[in-house]
Amino acid sequence: MPIDLPMAQKDLLFQVTRNDQAKSVAELEDILAAPAFGQVFTDHMVDICWSEKGGWHRPRVQPYGPIALDPAASVLHYGQEIFEGLKAYRHPDGSVWSFRPDQNAKRLQRSAKRMALPDLPEEYFLESLRQLIAVDGHWTPGAPETSLYLRPFMFAKEAFLGIRPAKKVNYYLIASPTGAYFPGGVSPVSIWLSTTYSRAGKGGTGQAKTGGNYAASLVAQMEAAEHGCQQVMFLDSVEGKYLEELGGMNVVLVYADGTLVTPASETILEGITRDSILQLAADRGHAVERRPVALEEFRQGVASSQITEVFACGTAAVVTPIGQVLTPDGPIGSANAEAGELTMSLREQLTDIQYGRAEDPYGWMVRLSQ
Ligand SMILES: *Cc1c(COP(=O)(O)O)cnc(C)c1O
Repeated sequence: MPIDLPMAQKDLLFQVTRNDQAKSVAELEDILAAPAFGQVFTDHMVDICWSEKGGWHRPRVQPYGPIALDPAASVLHYGQEIFEGLKAYRHPDGSVWSFRPDQNAKRLQRSAKRMALPDLPEEYFLESLRQLIAVDGHWTPGAPETSLYLRPFMFAKEAFLGIRPAKKVNYYLIASPTGAYFPGGVSPVSIWLSTTYSRAGKGGTGQAKTGGNYAASLVAQMEAAEHGCQQVMFLDSVEGKYLEELGGMNVVLVYADGTLVTPASETILEGITRDSILQLAADRGHAVERRPVALEEFRQGVASSQITEVFACGTAAVVTPIGQVLTPDGPIGSANAEAGELTMSLREQLTDIQYGRAEDPYGWMVRLSQ
């Protein structure tokens, strides 16, 4: 088998090694009855190697397990790493689908470019999803609002302490069954506005899905928790005047005239959920604006009821209504704010498409199972 040769465009030959300690049907039933996010992983994982000389090679599906790393592997020192996050959904007929995976593939390429990592061709990315579902598709739960969370990632594996892009990199895909994000029904999250910390800076890595951005957001998240808030919202790092996003979700404001406004800036991670929600809203006839949004516009808009709903969006929670936002200059909105009507209706429309309960006029759904 030519698995040690660089892969030709159409020759994605994955070597599959079955896990002889795969979970039994009974064990899996227990796990899928109450899946907790990111704690249990499927029996297998995908691994593709890259080297400067050989390009992408040795695509494998192998038993899930620890990765052996040289202590000098450059990711451990300089953080050259990127990731993606998407879900596999079980449809009523039992088939397994993903939502706009081509967009995740393209974003992984953009992140790779920013972090000086190699470009993984879109077809390799999509094939990695199909290969993992071929062996672990039965891990996709079927209860409402549950899914199999897919986590592709890539990092610098070369053992080398010099400062330059690594010449050895690996791409992996792991998967974890997840329950409903809001088991008790969707309810608004409380937000702490950080004026101490920034998530990303001008010319920095804000648009790349890289672990470092999350590492940088953790103390701000702790600060939010100390103030009794569930999530943190960041402002721009230059003037500290404009809304950016939460640690891992984009933000959308709904105005009384039906316009949806979302902050635009080079330091924001462009979410596929946000893009899809705004498309649904636009097709319902709502005006959609991507532009800078000043904190003061937000504060005054809520106070004057010109802004009627605020929500956050991302793959994990889909759409999360935002309740009160605590700021050093006083709260924005009311502590018992309820989920907005448009927020909930867009959430339902999107999840109906994702779970195959409604037609997909956009061609967003991609079948992963045979
Ligand atoms: C992944 C991510 C999002 C949401 O992106 P989706 O494609 O909608 O899941 C938003 N902000 C940050 C910082 C992220 O890392």
